[in-house]
Amino acid sequence: MFDQTTIEKDKSQHLFHVLEEHYGWFDWWPTENAFEIMMGAILVQNTNWRNADKALDNLGRGITPNEIEIMEHDELAQKIRSSGYYNQKAIKLKALIKWFKKYDYDIEKVRQQGLGHLRKELLAVRGIGRETADVILTYAIGKPSFVIDAYARRIASRFGIEVPKSYENFRKLMQQAFPKSKDKYGYYHGLMVEHGGRYCNPKPKCEECPIAQHCQQNIE
Ligand code: SF4
Repeated sequence: MFDQTTIEKDKSQHLFHVLEEHYGWFDWWPTENAFEIMMGAILVQNTNWRNADKALDNLGRGITPNEIEIMEHDELAQKIRSSGYYNQKAIKLKALIKWFKKYDYDIEKVRQQGLGHLRKELLAVRGIGRETADVILTYAIGKPSFVIDAYARRIASRFGIEVPKSYENFRKLMQQAFPKSKDKYGYYHGLMVEHGGRYCNPKPKCEECPIAQHCQQNIE
């Protein structure tokens, strides 16, 4: 006798299996620069990656936390203008810096902390919500924390998975379905963004979708 969680876990594993079969392996965030990834996680909020990437270019690749710390708010805001909500995002970047400074801007010191402790700290930083915290944990710090976003919610529910309403319960379900791995969790988030952008957007392209034969197409 299978309980409901086991059924949903199985369906989740099936979804990611068919996506993996189609897309193959790719490195979703191919940079080793942890600080840049952290800033990118904030800059990409409410916009696309192209605009966030342009803001990172304007800041200057290789910019240090110390340089952001001493930069005037207005200058910082102007440099990240392309990412939208730039005044708010400048405040958020300064808040991120304040948190990072506790670790002397040393990512290795951050990595010495436990995932639960870091997640709690990040969630207390202004402008860092659950999705941004999990992106930072997984990609920048290397602590696997499954990232839930609008793509994941949409694809999973259309596929036929009973998607828990709350972020934490959905994350818990995914973490029960898949062993903790920063590479895998990073890849799975990439698969959601890729598939959601190409096929499973608000107006889904089911006729062209490579996983259509497996999908219940529960489209509202
Ligand atoms: S078949 Fe349609 S609803 Fe299902 S994943 Fe593909 S695009 Fe989305």
